[in-house]
Amino acid sequence: MSIALFTLGGTIAMAGHGGAGVVARLTGADLTAAVPGLADLGVPLEVRDTHAVPSAHLTFPQLLAVVGAASSAVAAGAEGVVVTQGTDTLEETAYLADLVWAHEAPLVFTGAMRNPTLAGADGPANLLAAARVAAAPEARGLGTLVVFNDEIHAARWVRKTHSTSTATFASPNAGPLGHVIEGRVRVLTTPPRHAPRPVPAAAQEGDTPRVALYTVSLDDDGVLLDGLADTHQGLVVAGFGVGHVPGTLAPVLGALAERVPVVLTSRSGSGSVLRHTYGAVGSETDLRRRGLIDGGLLDPYKARVLLRLLLAGGADREAVTAAFARHG
Ligand code: ASP
Repeated sequence: MSIALFTLGGTIAMAGHGGAGVVARLTGADLTAAVPGLADLGVPLEVRDTHAVPSAHLTFPQLLAVVGAASSAVAAGAEGVVVTQGTDTLEETAYLADLVWAHEAPLVFTGAMRNPTLAGADGPANLLAAARVAAAPEARGLGTLVVFNDEIHAARWVRKTHSTSTATFASPNAGPLGHVIEGRVRVLTTPPRHAPRPVPAAAQEGDTPRVALYTVSLDDDGVLLDGLADTHQGLVVAGFGVGHVPGTLAPVLGALAERVPVVLTSRSGSGSVLRHTYGAVGSETDLRRRGLIDGGLLDPYKARVLLRLLLAGGADREAVTAAFARHG
């Protein structure tokens, strides 16, 4: 019995750099050596130092390669997997992994908000809690998880909600699935699990379609959207509230939707877009009539991950709509 640990950099692995700010340079051996109590778990961690980067540098192919290696580790007998990385993109990477993760063994993402040079660095506690969850029978079948600040979140619902707080990860629509209390893994809610999506070769090879994310704002003229269908294969719109845009933008988005899939989400931070409540030009009803696809409860970042994965697999508009109906 073992846990596979993949390290991808981020604040959890950062150390001083000649007075020029911290950079990712600690290895998995450094990280595990800094965790009191890890040895008492009784489960060895098999470390794979994979990337040492800020999470803003991570790419789809890199993440899919990590998921592939994690799958192989599970197939070879690992009880669970922990991935450490920066927190900035963690809500997207964990969701991408969740969409394709096919195992009962948990795939657990974690990181840190305070780097190891600071008082009260949270990396060691997060790594220990993540390892406990990865090894816990209670976590089997839960898919991809984010364990942070002693909370267990479903990758499909979790958000980074604060730029500096150690309690940054939250699931505004659902709450945490559970907690780690006195070292014990307590799972309170089990999310329904979707069948894993296939990993398209194009996404693995770096030939992933371009999907833009456009956040609508007050008195928005939409000039930035000009020519977008010539350079991008899809678009996610983060609209106001339940999925609204200025009336002037409605025909612009409708014209784009005739050429590429355009998914409607909310910029609000939690809650769903609606389908048929408001009727004004630029409302959710109007935009759906113009061909925009309902993003449901998915936030704009996760919607972009899903759309990109679907388009990489050659999904047409019908398949994209069906997938968003299932995952949104
Ligand atoms: N900028 C860092 C990163 O995402 C932040 C962190 O790790 O918390 O790599």
